[in-house]
Order: sequence, then structure tokens, then C-alpha cells
Amino acid sequence: MYEIKICHLYPDLLNLYGDYGNIQALVRRLEWRGINVSVHPISIGDPFLPDAYDIVFMGGGPTNEQEILHKDLLGLKKAPLIEAVENDTVFLCICGGYQLMGQYYKLSDGTELECLGAMNHWTIDHEKRMTGNLIFEIEGLKQHPDSLVVGFENHSGKTYLGDGVLPLGKVLYGKGNNGEDGYEGARYRNVYCSYSHGSLLPKNPGLTDEIITLAIKRKYKDFVSLQPLNDHIETAARENLIKRFLNTPNSPK
Ligand code: GLN
Repeated sequence: MYEIKICHLYPDLLNLYGDYGNIQALVRRLEWRGINVSVHPISIGDPFLPDAYDIVFMGGGPTNEQEILHKDLLGLKKAPLIEAVENDTVFLCICGGYQLMGQYYKLSDGTELECLGAMNHWTIDHEKRMTGNLIFEIEGLKQHPDSLVVGFENHSGKTYLGDGVLPLGKVLYGKGNNGEDGYEGARYRNVYCSYSHGSLLPKNPGLTDEIITLAIKRKYKDFVSLQPLNDHIETAARENLIKRFLNTPNSPK
């Protein structure tokens, strides 16, 4: 019997714009396949055990909350979190959580918030917030009827990717990482980062299943693939947004 353990990092602090919906999407799509799943909230003062979890989720939060947890993140949790990343644990990090995985976050007053250093990206605060619907394309993503991902962004930080870090996708609508290079999010080993709140996963079942599949295959060598689910509601929601914002010739009639 397969079992997946999910660590929810700082659920009391980093949980903006419904980011908890990502946990719910992971749990439900595992349960619908009869796979045992448990969620483990880990916050300030709690130890993070590097080999205890299959998926780690860190959501978004206002800059002041990122500063509250900053000492704990860089103290108690830094080494085991980096160890988990390097051991190919699957991570999903959204917005503030994404920023904290990088090298530093330069705040509007010019101070630099040292971040985890688990990935080679950095963020620079910007006076104008980047807010609105976000649609981006993940090459090779198996998601009906296209490889598009829909979401919502709200951030003042502009993130730039360094060597060794790939973008998660190409922006088709919205700003993405910085509104300059046309990229959204980041990928490093089994870490998925995105600015997309929304929350991201409920409307993007193909991406949810990609993350789940990666975590199960890493733990159970005999695992082949997930049973397909009837995603007509999720697909209708996505198609509606794609039609509304992209109005592409191949968008659903
Ligand atoms: N405080 C960060 C920013 O504004 C992250 C915000 C968030 O997580 N939505 O860029």
C-alpha cells in the first residue's frame, strides 16, 4: 500500500490567497486513488527531519511574516531543508515560499534578507506590485487540453534565476517572475516554485498529478502511474480562464 507524507511548512504564517488549497488538492487526488496520505504542519520551533517527508509545501506570505520566520528558517531548518532538496524530496513553493528558497530578498529599504540558499535565484523588491491573473506554459506538461497553467499572482518582489535553475514555464498572460524575462517560477531537482496563488493546484490537475507521481516514483520503485480521474470541472474552470485571458484561436469554443 502506497503512503505519502506531506510537510506543510509554516502553515500559520505562509498561507496567503488560499494557498492551503494546494494541500487540499494533493490530499484529495491521492485519496481518490486510494493512496494513504498524511499532512504534517511544521512551524517555528519545530524540527524539520530531512528524510521524513515525500512532499514539502511552503506557501506565500506578506514580507513582514517572511521576516518573522526568517530566523527559524535559517537556524533550525536550513541544513535539513537543503539536505531534503539535494535528496530529491519533492517541494512546491509558492510566492513568498519561492523567494525564501533562494539566495536573498532585497527589501524596499535596501536591506537584504538572507534566504535559505537552497536554489540559485534572488529577489529584489519593487515599488509596483505585480498583481493579476497569470497564465503560463510548462513544456511537456500532460494537462488536458493543453500544457497551460492558470493562476493568480500578487507580489512586489522580482525574482531572477541564476545558473543551475530552470524556469517553471513561459508567461503567456501576466508578469511572472519579474515582468521582464517572460519566465514564471523555477525548477531545481524536484523543487517546483511558482508565483501562482489561486491556489495553483486545484485548477491545474495535470500539474498536481505530475508532482504526486514524482513523489511516489521516488519512494516506490514499482510504481507505474496514477489512475486517471474525471477532471471535467477543473478543466472547465481552466478553459474558462484561458478563453477569457488568452482568447487564442485554439481556445475552447
Ligand atoms: N512579500 C512577498 C512579495 O510581495 C511575497 C508575497 C506573497 O507571498 N504573495 O513579493
